[in-house]
Amino acid sequence: QRTKAGWKLEQSYTKLPDIFFSKMEPNPVASPELFILNEPLAEELGLDPEVLADEEEILAGNEVPEGSEPIAQAYAGHQFGQFTMLGDGRALLFGEQITPAGERKDIQLKGSGRTKFSRGGDGRAALGPMLREYIISEAMHGLGIPTSRSLAVTLTGETVRRERLLTGAVMTRVASSHLRVGTFEYAVRLTEAENVKALADYAIKRHYSHVLETENPYLALLQEVMKKQAELIAQWQLVGFIHGVMNTDNMTISGESIDYGPCAFMNHYDPSTVFSSIDVQGRYAYGNQPHIGGWNLARFAESLVPVLHEDQEKAIELAQNQMNQYKDLYFNAWHSGMRKKIGLLSEEADDEKLIEQLLNLMHQNKADFTNTFRKLTLGEVPIAGEEFADWLERWNERLARQEASPEEVRDVMKQHNPNVIPRNHRVEEAIAAAVEREDLSVMNRLLDVLRDPYAYSEDQTPYCSGPDPDAGPYRTFCGT
Ligand code: AMP
Ligand code: MG
Ligand code: MG
Repeated sequence: QRTKAGWKLEQSYTKLPDIFFSKMEPNPVASPELFILNEPLAEELGLDPEVLADEEEILAGNEVPEGSEPIAQAYAGHQFGQFTMLGDGRALLFGEQITPAGERKDIQLKGSGRTKFSRGGDGRAALGPMLREYIISEAMHGLGIPTSRSLAVTLTGETVRRERLLTGAVMTRVASSHLRVGTFEYAVRLTEAENVKALADYAIKRHYSHVLETENPYLALLQEVMKKQAELIAQWQLVGFIHGVMNTDNMTISGESIDYGPCAFMNHYDPSTVFSSIDVQGRYAYGNQPHIGGWNLARFAESLVPVLHEDQEKAIELAQNQMNQYKDLYFNAWHSGMRKKIGLLSEEADDEKLIEQLLNLMHQNKADFTNTFRKLTLGEVPIAGEEFADWLERWNERLARQEASPEEVRDVMKQHNPNVIPRNHRVEEAIAAAVEREDLSVMNRLLDVLRDPYAYSEDQTPYCSGPDPDAGPYRTFCGT
């Protein structure tokens, strides 16, 4: 049955063994007030935006929509390499909305109050970081990268205490699921082995039901997740996205990007780029993301060992063999994307070298990552100097050796090189206007140009420039 805004919720997660979740009651807030609503996303979910806009009590977690069985999910994870029990400490899962297209989407509140898993935390969230997640996740969606999305941000009418008092807010997050590598680590390390099977069966049914036809569905699950994550991280690299906290609890089984805390887009190309203030070792630096993806997937593979084969030694061997394929999976996804970024539509032995030389020149010249490819797309010269001119000549010769016309090449490049990304200074400017002056116009304009970053439209032009060269290094902080 559909109710009010069009809620059509199911809760399949509570059919898992009850160690996987904790049932929740609402944690009411003082005075819910809708701050921003993602109308196109509401429509996709089968929710009437006008009615939903009046359901502030639901979006703030004061009431639950019909059909909802609210829970907090249990999970663990490796945070900066250290294994820890975690769980939803400030989130509440209403259930799964069945969309008009027949898809199943988790509807989760973030910042909805304390849960069984809150440890010392207050369970709450501040407006600024929730708007940041809203902007970046919608930008990722616009870029065509699988991601959780943001349906709404709702003010609580309460403050949250961080270093100072901040405006409190709750975000409504939509995701294909919130199954994480850390959910499997929790099952295998902190519970009975049979729970791994229950969880793997659930993940297969929810995301990869086609593997049920294979000889070893659990091995196929590992394979599928590895493929999805390799492709996802390749897409991050190809647009210069730095996640910032690639802990195993922030890596999904669905292959969507999730948990936008200290993430940011790189400006000048440098593989060692880190924005997060807490990542002092550079564990999650831009150039290290592919490697960390493999590290996280190895934790996933380990978690599946109990179900991969009756003979545990054979299970380990299967996991190991599968892990050995990650590097190639990642490289192939990245390389094929890189080829399109420079318009290579045929294949030549030296293509890899041509790409490597370009990246080296970008690094040496501190060239802006996005704008280098953007200018190449537009036929402009992105980097001055003779060395780059030589590279341009080799590239043009290479393009001339393929059948594709210059128009075809430009079209492919346009589809793979965004004209705009959510530049850090633009994101900050939008958040500041919204938080300090309740002025959403800056954020809405930014969201507009990010909706189709490959449009190369005139209204995007002011958003193409990098940061002021005198601005100093940009720093991000973990979600507060
Ligand atoms: P994250 O860094 O966002 O991946 O979160 C790591 C863990 O900390 C998760 O278990 C979160 O639920 C929890 N957490 C983050 N902020 C809070 C908070 N304010 N109150 C309670 N738990 C939190
Ligand atoms: Mg997290
Ligand atoms: Mg977070």
